[in-house]
Amino acid sequence: MKAEGLKIILSGPSGSGKGTIVRELIKKEHFILSVSATTRLPRQGEQDGVHYFFKTKEEFETMIKDDELLEYAQFCDNYYGTPKTFIEESVKNGKDVILEIEVQGALQVKAIYPEALFVFVMPPTLTELENRLVGRNTETPAVIAQRLARAKEEVAFYKEYDYVVINDSLEEAICDIETIVAAEKLRSSRF
Ligand code: 5GP
Repeated sequence: MKAEGLKIILSGPSGSGKGTIVRELIKKEHFILSVSATTRLPRQGEQDGVHYFFKTKEEFETMIKDDELLEYAQFCDNYYGTPKTFIEESVKNGKDVILEIEVQGALQVKAIYPEALFVFVMPPTLTELENRLVGRNTETPAVIAQRLARAKEEVAFYKEYDYVVINDSLEEAICDIETIVAAEKLRSSRF
């Protein structure tokens, strides 16, 4: 029988580089990304069904009402949520599913799947975080300020996670996460 995959919850403030880490991880065959639903507008280059399922507020609220989401949260004036069915199917097929979600959602998932692996990606410093947010040029100054304020709040939740990975070097952060996942698999396969 195929071993079940892991549920990997990856959080970290905007600009911590977790998005880049996830893009690299899913190039490996055993990782798969849970595509979230959001009411945020697509950024340039983002595709519906690939980066997010882009929804109107009404559509999102219908998903909530119909119990289609494992968790959801409001983040900087938009809804974000994880569709339920994909995760269970993927882990049964032996895939390690990555949920790249913010802390309120991660805490909801912890209550449902306490056995999941919770990893928090930390930027090396808050100044570096600000530089990254400004440098990537995807948000307006007002949104950057809002995300930076939220980042400071999110960092306070790192103790809720099993592991903290400091993203100073992208290669090392990816390597750290792969090592954590490999160790976790050995741990669960002992029983
Ligand atoms: P962004 O707008 O930068 O793509 O995402 C903003 C924040 O929402 C990030 O911290 C991201 O991890 C989080 N996020 C993305 N999808 C989900 C989700 O399905 N649920 C929750 N709770 N947060 C999410």
